[in-house]
Amino acid sequence: MTQSDNLDTADRPLPLPFVAQGPLYTPGRVMQDSARPVFRLSNNESPLGIGELAAQAVRDAAVSQHVYPDPDGMALAEALGEAHGIDPSRVLIGPGSESIINWIILGWVGVGDEVLYSAHGFQAYRIRAMTAGAMPVAVAERNLRIDVDALLSAVTERTRIVFVANPNNPTGTFITPAEIARLRDGLRSNIMLVVDEAYYEYVADPEYSSVLQMVDAKAENVIVLRTFSKFYGLAGLRVGWAYAPRFAVDALSRVSGPYAVSRVALEAAQAAMRDQAHCDAARRHNDIWLAWTNEHIRSLGYETTDSVCNFVTMKIPGGAEAAVAFDNKLCSLGFVGRLAHQNALPDWLRLTIGSPEAMQTLIPALETLIE
Ligand SMILES: *Cc1c(COP(=O)(O)O)cnc(C)c1O
Repeated sequence: MTQSDNLDTADRPLPLPFVAQGPLYTPGRVMQDSARPVFRLSNNESPLGIGELAAQAVRDAAVSQHVYPDPDGMALAEALGEAHGIDPSRVLIGPGSESIINWIILGWVGVGDEVLYSAHGFQAYRIRAMTAGAMPVAVAERNLRIDVDALLSAVTERTRIVFVANPNNPTGTFITPAEIARLRDGLRSNIMLVVDEAYYEYVADPEYSSVLQMVDAKAENVIVLRTFSKFYGLAGLRVGWAYAPRFAVDALSRVSGPYAVSRVALEAAQAAMRDQAHCDAARRHNDIWLAWTNEHIRSLGYETTDSVCNFVTMKIPGGAEAAVAFDNKLCSLGFVGRLAHQNALPDWLRLTIGSPEAMQTLIPALETLIE
């Protein structure tokens, strides 16, 4: 359907039907007017907050806000190039990786094209595909892990992009770089593989590693995404980046236009990268409290995934309805979690690794909810 078909009989300037009827992202719930302290464990935000160096960069940048930022964030791209041993001219900076996901969709898919994603993957892939009039295709996982064979067998001639988050949100699980390579090798060379590494910095498992270097391979069909929102504690500023083949960076720059990322955000991200003490603390905090929380939740008898991220994901006994009741009760005890119903896991609850106090009080709260 074209826009003129849509408007023939309309009395208002209607948006495209797949935009008007497209799904809306549901943010984690925010508790207001609560009498007791509320631990917001719904958005995978850093319990350590913004680091000292980044906070100082924000203050320093305050006085120069009348000046446009660097049009494509080259200074940050160069810092990332140096830190990761990658080509800065192929780093694309965006206002959060969520926006870059949207730019990839806008650049590569049209109405009726197919976008594959792993069934319990991040919901932005499905939502953004639908809003562009494309067909999101959910591909079954195996034991809450990405299933490369299933993804490969779901490919059709209309497939344009395959999205995987590795490790994945909300399951917290990962597949090895060898599995990602097998996925890439099995795809037609004109299908883009997007590997979203939003939780890369947290992963301690030696079997895991980034596939940034895969972007340098001859086959120019891999884009890797990263974000400053989680580990670096800059979710409010909106900075993410992609490492992509040069022709893809070129296309994405045309979609994004200049000045997509603010001066404050660019400065803060560079400072956050330099703040080794803050990064070490974030990593140490997560290593300790992820293991501690998972172990304690399991010892209460709940099933959890093998999360390597900054959250735990637990199964609520009794099915989807029981999970909604459980989530509400936990909320009334002061802990805001995130049900994974939008990721086709309606009886699983994701809880961010918060402060020591949050985790230590969460366990007795969960204990009171055992039926
Ligand atoms: C949080 C998250 C993002 C989005 O991060 P922003 O950079 O804040 O837009 C992307 N992918 C996954 C898997 C995430 O969990």
